[in-house]
Amino acid sequence: MTIKTRFAPSPTGYLHVGGARTALFSWLYAKKNGGKFVLRIEDTDLERSTPESVEAILEGMQWLGLHYDEGPIYQTYRVERYQQIIQQLLAQGDAYYCSCSKERLHELREGQKSRQEKPRYDGLCRHTNNDPQQANQVIRFKNPTTGSVVIKDVVKGDITIQNQELDDLILARADGSPTYNLTVVVDDMDMEISHVIRGDDHINNTPRQINILTALKAELPQYAHLPMILGADGARLSKRHGAVSVMQYRDEGFLPEALLNYLVRLGWSSGDQEIFSLNEMVDLFTLEQVNVTASSFNPEKLLWLNHQYIMHDEPEHIAHYLIWHLNAIGIDITAGPNPVDIVLAQRERCKTLVEMAAASRYFYQDFAKYDEKAVKKNFKAGSEIVLQHLLIQFRELEIWNGTDLHQIVLDTAESLELKLGKVAQPLRVAVCGCAVSPAIDATLALLGRDKTLMRIKNAIDYIKN
Ligand code: GLU
Repeated sequence: MTIKTRFAPSPTGYLHVGGARTALFSWLYAKKNGGKFVLRIEDTDLERSTPESVEAILEGMQWLGLHYDEGPIYQTYRVERYQQIIQQLLAQGDAYYCSCSKERLHELREGQKSRQEKPRYDGLCRHTNNDPQQANQVIRFKNPTTGSVVIKDVVKGDITIQNQELDDLILARADGSPTYNLTVVVDDMDMEISHVIRGDDHINNTPRQINILTALKAELPQYAHLPMILGADGARLSKRHGAVSVMQYRDEGFLPEALLNYLVRLGWSSGDQEIFSLNEMVDLFTLEQVNVTASSFNPEKLLWLNHQYIMHDEPEHIAHYLIWHLNAIGIDITAGPNPVDIVLAQRERCKTLVEMAAASRYFYQDFAKYDEKAVKKNFKAGSEIVLQHLLIQFRELEIWNGTDLHQIVLDTAESLELKLGKVAQPLRVAVCGCAVSPAIDATLALLGRDKTLMRIKNAIDYIKN
């Protein structure tokens, strides 16, 4: 069997964490099995779907690197095909026109509720042979009334639902537009989807979809319903819990691989392993290892993972993303060191690329002000003498390099009989404007001769005044 999975978002918002996890699991399963991964945009709900949302989904998939083998396929382009299938179901007696008014359906529901019955359509129009030409009719599926449906779910095991529990769902609205359950079934069938991997919020739709597929004599896909993701408060993860859009994580300085690694562990595990490269994920992923129970979103762990990737990934790779963030805060990277060197110097102390970009501004731009606290603590009477001493020796240095710069700082401390910190800290504040930076020799080497000398001179003037 050729494995084919799909991610089928409705474009009614951004690509959120839950959607991204569904996409990742579907993508992984296809890759693991040498299969194909399809992106299908379920945009038939014209009122709620927006082009901006389609863009946001495509952008999110692109940033995560979840490339699809087919698609994006837009359902709005397939309306004729849905109509064809609806006609087929009508012709073979598996669907019927229903003219029940809103008022009747409302009364029916209220009556059922008052008797504490499950609200469901009673099938009145099943046998009335309504004239197709009549206005304001919907088309319903003739769900079997006896027997049961078994969902063979790879994650949750077998789930049996009695057909009596299911009513005749609407396949086409009064305006003729097809409904979600119909379009999904037609697409999964036509696209030969072998595995439907999706959130378990769809599990109630599955027996209905199985019945329609069976009426169409289509082969059933394997189903795998993923447990939901909860926020720290135990409620289903939602906008309330803060950053749930994938692109927001990019904006906050996360790496796509860290987010993917985090997402794969939300509901899946392989022993105690926490860090998985994409290749490892593909190698190890199985649907059988997906947890049955819900998992909780833990922002601290995501941050930890991001830091691990920042520290251990190829610096060139990290620099590629850092440049995006430097540009985003208005830094011209041609005005300073190679971002790869910034990554090497800063990666231990920065958990996100936003932090790293902000903490690296002084390498590229002169600062207008010193950090007040840093000045108070480190620019004392006499600090100008230390800086003057350093300036003279730095000026004489022929080749600007970390080892010699370090030696000059050491020698200065020794000859002025000061602790190293009393030399390095005023120097750091002088050249960075703040009291935190990478090791002083690395900082100076990265800053380069011109910026260093000029900033030391400025600091001497500042202290003197
Ligand atoms: N379009 C549906 C959604 O965004 C998913 C449909 C499916 O995976 O079957 O929730």
